[in-house]
Amino acid sequence: MGILEGKKGLVLGLANDKSIAWGVAQACKREGAELGFNYLGEQLEKRVRPLAEKVDAKLIESLDVSDDAQLDAFFAKVKEQWGELDFMVHSIAFANKDALRNPFSHATRADFQLALDISAYSFIACAQRAAPLMKEGGSMLTMTYLGAERAVPGYGMMGVAKAALEASTRYLAQDLGTQGIRVNAISAGPIRTLAASAVGDFRKLMEKSARGSMLGRNVSQNEVGNTTAYLLSDMASGVSGEVHYVDAGFHVGAGDPGIE
Ligand code: NAD
Repeated sequence: MGILEGKKGLVLGLANDKSIAWGVAQACKREGAELGFNYLGEQLEKRVRPLAEKVDAKLIESLDVSDDAQLDAFFAKVKEQWGELDFMVHSIAFANKDALRNPFSHATRADFQLALDISAYSFIACAQRAAPLMKEGGSMLTMTYLGAERAVPGYGMMGVAKAALEASTRYLAQDLGTQGIRVNAISAGPIRTLAASAVGDFRKLMEKSARGSMLGRNVSQNEVGNTTAYLLSDMASGVSGEVHYVDAGFHVGAGDPGIE
């Protein structure tokens, strides 16, 4: 029997088969969960729907997390479909490319608000709508990166958004803990995805991460997916408010030993 047998959960942020959300979806399905997905716009629906169908999705609906009306409509459909919810994975981030490429000190108010809204506030917005459906308690999880706590070249604005996301994880955990809802984050090492392509010199970042990690390599979507399944499951019933690293041990090292 899988560790998520009988559980119903949302995986938000699937774009294609390179997405971290796809690693999550496959692991959760393998462990016995029933899944629901969102997609952002018709363009992505073409990619998301066939993938979601592969893991027998019970719900595949449009959702732009920057729009409160769409959030309300999406979670109303979740309620209609299942009536209750056991878990929610938030694997969503966005920043304007220029905001990541330009010097950080040139950040505009609009770019800052957009990055923080979609990459951090949206987790709170989803959590406040998912929590009432978690009648028997539940588990929520978001995806973050080391750039939240260290100044990683090329990550600037997104690092600030991830810092807000990690703090939000702790405060959501505090707020929802009394309802038996656990809230955690996974800090994943760099993985080549659509979102990652916005980060300046991502190839170099991946090389450095592999060289500086304990395992001497980078991690995969599947490894992040497996750890997600554990954190969503009752196996992690005593874990909340945590940022859990899935980065082959990079964050405990002194960095890239082969630094040029
Ligand atoms: P991805 O591009 O596959 O996923 C990002 C998702 O965010 C996409 O599905 C996109 O549709 C969605 N999204 C963006 N704006 C949205 C909006 N307004 N409404 C709804 N959805 C929206 O890339 P990914 O790397 O799988 O990213 C997933 C998460 O993992 C992100 O939070 C990212 O910051 C985080 N992360 C990624 C890495 C990495 O190296 N790839 C490392 C650590 C953390």
